[in-house]
Amino acid sequence: MKRDYQLLVIGAGSGGVRASRMAAAKGVKVAVIESRALGGTCVNVGCVPKKLFVYASEYAEKFHEARGFGVEGQLQHFDWPTLRDNKTNEISRLNDIYNNLLENSGVDILHGSARFIDAHTVLVGDNTVSADKILIATGGWPFKPDVEGVEHAITSNEAFYLEQFPQRVIVVGGGYIAVEFAGIFNGLGADTTLLYRGDQILRGFDEGIRHFAAEQIAAKGVKIRTHSDIQRIEKLASGELSVTLKSGDTLLVDAVMYATGRRPMTDGLGLEEVGVSTRENGTIITDDHFRTSAENIYAIGDVIGTPALTPVALAQGMRLVAQLYSDDTSALDYHNIPTAVFCQPNIATIGLTEEQAREQYGDDIAVFESSFRPMKHTISGLPERSLMKLIVQSSSDKVIGAHMVGADAGEIVQGLAVAIKAGATKADFDNTIGIHPTAAEEFVTMRSPRD
Ligand SMILES: Cc1cc2nc3c(=O)[nH]c(=O)nc-3n(C[C@H](O)[C@H](O)[C@H](O)COP(=O)(O)OP(=O)(O)OC[C@H]3O[C@@H](n4cnc5c(N)ncnc54)[C@H](O)[C@@H]3O)c2cc1C
Repeated sequence: MKRDYQLLVIGAGSGGVRASRMAAAKGVKVAVIESRALGGTCVNVGCVPKKLFVYASEYAEKFHEARGFGVEGQLQHFDWPTLRDNKTNEISRLNDIYNNLLENSGVDILHGSARFIDAHTVLVGDNTVSADKILIATGGWPFKPDVEGVEHAITSNEAFYLEQFPQRVIVVGGGYIAVEFAGIFNGLGADTTLLYRGDQILRGFDEGIRHFAAEQIAAKGVKIRTHSDIQRIEKLASGELSVTLKSGDTLLVDAVMYATGRRPMTDGLGLEEVGVSTRENGTIITDDHFRTSAENIYAIGDVIGTPALTPVALAQGMRLVAQLYSDDTSALDYHNIPTAVFCQPNIATIGLTEEQAREQYGDDIAVFESSFRPMKHTISGLPERSLMKLIVQSSSDKVIGAHMVGADAGEIVQGLAVAIKAGATKADFDNTIGIHPTAAEEFVTMRSPRD
């Protein structure tokens, strides 16, 4: 039976765009359906606008740093509409680029919300579209817990478009999005409280890194309140929010941002019509070839519950196309995915944490650690410190984890990721000549394991 397309992709985000373009490049007849803006979360309300805000948030501190170097300057004014609108213009430019990339690759773009009619047919607006294979790449969506007055709170989606910059903010959550936004608001001058109900922020990261980063973040001015959660939010006639914590404390703020998690976006897709199975948390179940429980329906990206990172969705899109339309049907390797948190200072990490390494290898590990004051701050006077950690399996000498808190950690660890992925040993690190004077050279000069 002749269908409209060989491949129909639902969602033009990181994974969907990459899969569509790669498939079209192989001569496959492809269409992608998008209900919002091309580029998905990363481009519109994720990595890109977030990083632009992170850059903005780091300028104020530079005026302080400069004084120690004899450079006097005064921060006059921060104009939120300028930052917000310049960011939005840049996002529109990227939306156009995505449009051109797709069109030039020969991918048809269908605007509207997709709903399955059957395993080969999807409804988009008033039109039905059929395809041999359908790929779900619909990403995720932030959710807010069921708290009294939660309708007055925002999520990261709205934070990018606020009418006014809040002078006092509560960010709720301990994951990387919460921590990054706390850094953004704080750096841009808001009185910022980070509320987290657990013991320590950044669960899942190396314990030493979590504690060190929390200290650094607090030293920058973010008020971190652990074992804390919101009981009730009340909007006052003044427009301010009166926030009552479970402890009974009340805080008066201009905005509350929840970053307490994201859920897979499958609303209105009609997965049940076609027998696509999901887990209890709503993520779509796939095998290592991205096949769902329904024949000819595939899924990639945040919606399948793998690490919610753009490079992972991109890699899945490319792997799926290779599996479907080439002889290379190997599965994606999820080991050693590097990642960063763009807080101040940055955190970046690859491989096993010390705790994971101990669990896996017991005493057969050595930990190399260095904590120091970066050279710049010996003169800037800022109290900021850096921490670097290497985890090595003693018997094989393989470096199985690298972690850093410090300026440009993401830029530094990306390079280390190549070495670690390639199986570098501690001896390889030791034999590598450093670049002097840099912070990064510390990774090749740590000689004695920590006790
Ligand atoms: C604030 C924030 C910061 C982030 N920062 C980083 C970072 O620094 N680095 C990093 O690697 N990752 C980051 N991420 C995560 C990253 O954005 C996601 O992992 C990535 O976008 C997932 O890609 P995806 O293709 O799975 O889905 P998405 O990019 O979310 O794309 C899904 C698309 O599907 C569309 N869609 C949904 N349902 C339908 C439907 N029924 N019909 C038609 N279209 C539909 C949506 O509108 C969307 O455009 C961040 C995320 C957030 C929220």
